[in-house]
Amino acid sequence: MAKQENEIQTRDWPDAHIHFFADFAEYFACSKPASPFFSSSPAPLFLNAATEEDWQLLQKVAVAERVKPFFGIHPWSIKDLRNGWEERLAGILKSIPHSGIGEIGLDWSKPSIQGPELRQRQREVFSRQLALAAEFNRPVSIHCVRAWDAIWELTQNFPAKKNLAIIFHAFSGSPEMVSEILLKKRWNAFFSLAVFQARPESDKWRRLLRSIPTERLLLESDAETAKEAASLENLYQTAAEILKISRDELKDSVLRNLNVVWESLASS
Ligand SMILES: [Zn+2]
Repeated sequence: MAKQENEIQTRDWPDAHIHFFADFAEYFACSKPASPFFSSSPAPLFLNAATEEDWQLLQKVAVAERVKPFFGIHPWSIKDLRNGWEERLAGILKSIPHSGIGEIGLDWSKPSIQGPELRQRQREVFSRQLALAAEFNRPVSIHCVRAWDAIWELTQNFPAKKNLAIIFHAFSGSPEMVSEILLKKRWNAFFSLAVFQARPESDKWRRLLRSIPTERLLLESDAETAKEAASLENLYQTAAEILKISRDELKDSVLRNLNVVWESLASS
């Protein structure tokens, strides 16, 4: 039993961006009824859909207190879209008032979705999801690869009542970009650093980490496997060492920031 509790603790890290994977429920659930997955764990999981298939599963697990569901279409999935997706997405957002929009965005790098037509399609799908975010006042989780100018341009048309919380997931820009983005008043931006990008030995990565204000910093696994989900703990450890704070302090501050994003929903 002691071992099991210990194991649970290691999984209890706030995660600003995670996906479903084959053994997702198994990984987070345990046999006890008060498992950390199904009880009100203090460690939220911002669980992101990438395709419409994910929406079904996500609706099922959204009942778990620690799951904060983000429904959306990933730019890599635009070719698989079926007619009526927008209405179906709006329907889910209405039926689950506590849900965000993600993972959405623009990717000017992945070869299979480039070319004028596909980039235009990416822009359309992204814009429509932004419009839903504005309409329902939901936080968004954004995937942006070499498309900053386009993201900025499209978010200018937000008819939002207030600035929406935007998580730049797997952020890999420079410290200068962090400053620039924070000056953009229309973006209530949060920067999420991902396990797969962590390079503690690289000066560039350490500078980026230090440049993000504490109240804007998030950490994520971006996991698609149980192994990746587990490695989030290492990122907390590494980042805490570089920031010269304790791992628990870092955990508390990421938790606070995730709550700020989530509570922006409650106040809408
Ligand atoms: Zn992702």
